[in-house]
Amino acid sequence: MADGQVGTTYDVVIVGMGPAGASAAAALSRGGIDVLAFDKEPHPRYKVCGGGLSARIDQLLDPGFRSVIEQTVNGVQFVYRGQDPLLIESSRPIAYMVMRDRFDHFLVQQAIQAGTEIRTGEGVIEVTQDSDGVEIVTGERRYRAKLVIGADGANSLVARQLFPNRSLYRAPALESEVGLGNGRHYPSATTILVDVGAARQGYGWIFPKRENLSVGVGEFCRKSTSLRTTFDRFVKEERGLTGWTVPRPVGHPIPAYSDSGGGPDAGGNSQFVNGRAALIGDAGHLVDPLFGEGIYYAVRSGQLIARAILENRHDYRESLVAYEATLERDILPEFRITARIARVIYAFPRLGFRLLRRYQDVVQSYFEVLQGRTTAAQFLPDAKKRLKASVNDLLLEALHLR
Ligand SMILES: Cc1cc2nc3c(=O)[nH]c(=O)nc-3n(C[C@H](O)[C@H](O)[C@H](O)COP(=O)(O)OP(=O)(O)OC[C@H]3O[C@@H](n4cnc5c(N)ncnc54)[C@H](O)[C@@H]3O)c2cc1C
Repeated sequence: MADGQVGTTYDVVIVGMGPAGASAAAALSRGGIDVLAFDKEPHPRYKVCGGGLSARIDQLLDPGFRSVIEQTVNGVQFVYRGQDPLLIESSRPIAYMVMRDRFDHFLVQQAIQAGTEIRTGEGVIEVTQDSDGVEIVTGERRYRAKLVIGADGANSLVARQLFPNRSLYRAPALESEVGLGNGRHYPSATTILVDVGAARQGYGWIFPKRENLSVGVGEFCRKSTSLRTTFDRFVKEERGLTGWTVPRPVGHPIPAYSDSGGGPDAGGNSQFVNGRAALIGDAGHLVDPLFGEGIYYAVRSGQLIARAILENRHDYRESLVAYEATLERDILPEFRITARIARVIYAFPRLGFRLLRRYQDVVQSYFEVLQGRTTAAQFLPDAKKRLKASVNDLLLEALHLR
């Protein structure tokens, strides 16, 4: 344990250098804030993740990130338990596929170039705060800062220690990386596969990369069955994987936003800021509840906390209040909408699949959300009107009344 001296007091300490922490660090350092950042792993490091970035990430990142894109995706092949393939495409990119070791390393390098002091391979083991500041203890020594940002992912230590009353649900997920090569190719490198019947209240995916396929399942329901059984069944049912060796999958939680997640907890405490601490990315459960997309929101929340601090640099309380207000304005309304869509699709996946087939133009409109050409709030009213009518039709059909 650390018994070293407390030296300099930093303006901000960031715990975790995934996309959330690295984005916050780069933006703060560029704005002249004195930042110290930790990651318990030496970088580049593997991270269990599909690595699917919706194309709207273009609006957030420096174009240099394109150097780490593995594939550009312009179509989604939907299936139901491996059957009835339905390909829906767009004339523009919908998503980019990245491997997280290279993508995260790129973001960390940007933070270093901006002037962030980074200690990788140094895990934080304790965080405490008082009226004067924050104390951060690592395996090597103690540090002090005016503010701490928890960017330490789904199992956040900062959240556990500084937000003790928070108890939010995290969805289980499993993923395996299937090696390509030896003359073997996946049929379509520009299409991702989404099986909406593969998991209970979730889905299975195959995301193609240059040298491998990321194959996984995630379940967003609370009464989870054996996810390993679900994964094995998904692999068996997907024709595209026939004959491939699929290595043992690795598990990691997805802290998807839930409707109870945004507001204060039972004791009236904020889920995102407390005293001199703020949570961003997975640590703040800022993950889309429909697809489990978290990288985009990690980068976005990292940039939002940085902006809030830079615009209120002489008053840390104001900066955290401003960060929470921006989340409430810019991110949480989107999650509340996608949570509603997720509730319907995941409760009735077979019906959801039929709706996808019948209303492919609604899916195309959702692609525009992923492309950043429209917002979930603009998408919903029209989709709702159309789907409401069609749900009635399908129910009547199911009851043989039409
Ligand atoms: C199976 C699976 C598939 C997924 N697929 C996708 C997808 O296709 N697209 C998508 O957008 N999202 C996906 N996600 C979600 C995505 O991985 C996360 O939302 C994203 O990684 C969040 O970024 P982050 O920076 O908040 O946290 P992380 O990327 O988890 O980074 C946290 C960092 O903190 C470090 N850390 C942790 N504890 C400490 C500590 N005590 N001290 C110092 N450092 C610490 C870790 O080493 C890590 O580097 C998936 C998740 C899973 C589990």
